[in-house]
Amino acid sequence: MRFHKLKTRIVAAFAVLFLLSLALELVIINGILVNSESQNINDLLSTGDHLLKFLNKESNQTLIQAAGVLSADFAFREAVASADRGTIISVLANHGNRIKADVMFLVGTDNVIIADTIGENKPMSQFPFQDLIRVAEQQRQASATVIFHGKLYQLVVVPVLAPTPIAWLASGFIIDDTYAKNLKSLTGLEVSFLTHTLPKGQWKLLATSLPAQQSALLPDAMPDITVKQENSTIEILLADDSHLAHISTVVKQSDKIIVAVLQRSLLAAMGPLHRLQWILLALSGLSFVAMLIAGNWIAHGITKPIRELGMLAQRIELGDYSQSVVLDREDEIGQLVSTFNHMSEGIATRESKIVELAYQDPLTGLPNRRLFHDRLEQAIKASKRSGEPLAILVMDLDRFKEVNDIMGHHVGDLLLQEVTKRLQTTVMRGSDTIARLKEYADTVARLGGDEFAILLTACDVKGAQIVVNRLLQTIEKPTLLEGQSIIINGSFGIVSSPEHGNEINTLLRHADLAMYAAKQANSGYAVFDSSLDSLNEQHLSLMAELHNAVEQNELSLYYQPKVDVASGTISHVEALIRWIHPKRGLIPPDHFIPFAENTGFIKIITKWVIERALHQQKIWREQGLKITVAVNLSARDILVPGLPALFTELMNKYGAASDWLSLEITESSIMTDPKSALITLNKLQEMGLSLSIDDFGTGYSSLTYLKKLPVTELKIDKSFISDMENNTDDATIVHSTIDLAHNMGLRAVAEGVENKAVWDKLQVLGCDFIQGYYISRPLPAEELEQWFKTSLWKVTEVA
Ligand code: C2E
Ligand code: CA
Ligand code: CA
Repeated sequence: MRFHKLKTRIVAAFAVLFLLSLALELVIINGILVNSESQNINDLLSTGDHLLKFLNKESNQTLIQAAGVLSADFAFREAVASADRGTIISVLANHGNRIKADVMFLVGTDNVIIADTIGENKPMSQFPFQDLIRVAEQQRQASATVIFHGKLYQLVVVPVLAPTPIAWLASGFIIDDTYAKNLKSLTGLEVSFLTHTLPKGQWKLLATSLPAQQSALLPDAMPDITVKQENSTIEILLADDSHLAHISTVVKQSDKIIVAVLQRSLLAAMGPLHRLQWILLALSGLSFVAMLIAGNWIAHGITKPIRELGMLAQRIELGDYSQSVVLDREDEIGQLVSTFNHMSEGIATRESKIVELAYQDPLTGLPNRRLFHDRLEQAIKASKRSGEPLAILVMDLDRFKEVNDIMGHHVGDLLLQEVTKRLQTTVMRGSDTIARLKEYADTVARLGGDEFAILLTACDVKGAQIVVNRLLQTIEKPTLLEGQSIIINGSFGIVSSPEHGNEINTLLRHADLAMYAAKQANSGYAVFDSSLDSLNEQHLSLMAELHNAVEQNELSLYYQPKVDVASGTISHVEALIRWIHPKRGLIPPDHFIPFAENTGFIKIITKWVIERALHQQKIWREQGLKITVAVNLSARDILVPGLPALFTELMNKYGAASDWLSLEITESSIMTDPKSALITLNKLQEMGLSLSIDDFGTGYSSLTYLKKLPVTELKIDKSFISDMENNTDDATIVHSTIDLAHNMGLRAVAEGVENKAVWDKLQVLGCDFIQGYYISRPLPAEELEQWFKTSLWKVTEVA
């Protein structure tokens, strides 16, 4: 049998041990008791035997004395002498009564009975115990136990002296049941007298203290005389009662034996012992029950906390850490329990930390993408139930990477926190303005990097646009971080469910597309529409095809002239790449250059561009045109250590002079890794190539750093130019940038000039070079050559 419960096992072990020791104890105690009891009986028997013998002797002595007294009595002697039988009989009877003798004989010297108190004897019959008289003749007295007329007597014989014996006086008392009972009362033992004729015969009961039924059985129960030794203790069975019996020989003659049997019923003797045994058993039973209770209690004390700990562990398994086990104990179990409780608390805090980490963005404390998904899922369900639309805004910060790269991740982090604060406060205000169900709170989440998402419940596209406008206003306020004023821009994509889908991934993808569209259009926000989706699919497959584009000769260089404002001539053109796709036609660089930059494919493109530009230059130089071609370099290009060597190699190949090419590098690409960039740029400059900082004003380069760069030109970003005639801020920036360039000894170039007004303004401000649709769109080489022939501005020619 197996006990599965610890408690049962403890109690069972206790019980088995206890029962074993109890049984052992009982056996030993019982053995001792039984032993001592039989020893007791044995002692009793031998004491009884001694007593019996002693009493026998005593009564002999008494009889002898009494008989002596009578035999010496003068009157008696006279009577004996007179041989008056009648007198003698009455004297015998009187005296016999006095000394309590049961039988008296007066025997003549001829052994003939003169008189007796039995009265049955015929006068003058022979005295049957002549041996006694012979002993008395020698010893003046004799005694013996005899059988007379079937009865047992104790008989003494003394002489009647005058002065020689004239007769013998025999007196005796009967040993009968009464005598045996008296002896019983003295010894506490059953006393019986039996005789057995020798050599063969049967036991015959003479007297006994035993009750009738038992006494009848005794002769048969007596041992075989031939086997049985005299004076021994044996066990005899009477009815169902076993007796310990001591048999002592009283008389042994050639023809018979008389024995006294002292016996004690074992049943009676062991009675108290049995009671004791019962008491012992009862006590054992009680102590066993007590043990069970105590064992149970102790086991309970051990197993209860273990059970509770088990339950606690189960609760922990189910993720419930709210409860602990309360136990006021200082022992090992108490320690275990408190360790367990600490462990549970530890797990709880760690788990909540993990949950926090799993659902919360540690930097901003905002819900993360995962939690946003959860909330969105709930909101979509609720929206399906209520029929109310919901809106999702996805926002990406513009040029966040630059902030991070240039001003450090610390500032980047601060910026993200600042943005978080602004988003949260605005959305809260927004939710007051727009009446909306409060069932699901609006969620601002950070999806990762500089991408945020906002869930607006019970809100349609119109409502979302209102919220976005507020957000744009708040976000675009400059912020001061680590002593630097930073303008943050963000682009928002807006989707609404069910209008743009009701599945999380679709909605988020659409929001992303809208956001990218907003970024490209620099429009602040864009609402998703299905055309964006197909555009995006195109975009993806395009990227796959870009790899073949170079080999398939699908790339082409367009050139856009820059006018030297002072001389009104064209000495520079910018090379801008185009992908003439066999099916899709002309693909602008913004659609594939960022991808090429991200994948490293830009290296191949850049090499192709340089070679293509040199090839074109060779033709133009041969035609006598003296133009410098500006080539755009990506951030990744200037980080490749082999770039200067590539230029040397290719320029040698085409026999190019250093003024064949100039390079345009964006401010931000320099700032990604300024140290390496500076090394590369210095080498390029040493080769005689002039460098221009492209898209100037959109990055965050410091003036001190700018001073170190080996550049000759600042190209003011077209975002400031295009609107400068209306926007005074932009005009101010352009003005001060031109001044800054001049102060640093650099040329100022304006790109994106689309009309005469801007041209005029720039001319007034002293801008050195002007580029833009106003002059010409980027054109393929042959078209540019045609344009040169008709344009207002003359191209410089080789001298
Ligand atoms: P970018 O270097 O700032 O080039 C000037 C962009 O402004 C050109 O766009 C040009 O077409 C456009 N643009 C010129 N004048 C005007 C104007 O008056 N109004 C407006 N709205 N736009 C004007 P494009 O050709 O689409 O090139 C976009 C960008 O792609 C370039 O910006 C440059 O960053 C990149 N890119 C172009 N070609 C190459 C190349 O060969 N290599 C690398 N790495 N980047 C290139
Ligand atoms: Ca450029
Ligand atoms: Ca530019």
